[in-house]
Amino acid sequence: MHEHHEHFPPRLPGQGRPACRRRALRGPALVGQAYAQELKPLPLDNPQAKALAYALDATAVKHPSFKPGSNCANCQFFTAATGACTLFPGFSVPAEAWCSAWAKKAA
Ligand code: SF4
Repeated sequence: MHEHHEHFPPRLPGQGRPACRRRALRGPALVGQAYAQELKPLPLDNPQAKALAYALDATAVKHPSFKPGSNCANCQFFTAATGACTLFPGFSVPAEAWCSAWAKKAA
């Protein structure tokens, strides 16, 4: 059987093909938003949380490396806007919490 191609769309100068006109996805903005919404409160039984003596209430912490007044709010790994902690990707921690990886936030 011989194939004919008369119905193939002619290429006109300056005309984009229909498939090229799909709207671009607004990827980065949506990804950023989804990521922020995915943060879950860090569970106390999280293995890394346990390893770092993570506690919800810094004022009740009795740990050799605990410095008076320290908590997530004044830790360099804390992002106040989202509660995110660099050491616990995907989780949020309360400003009043603490763990032994605490490091003073630069003024
Ligand atoms: S690293 Fe800092 S912000 Fe993260 S849980 Fe420990 S004290 Fe809180």
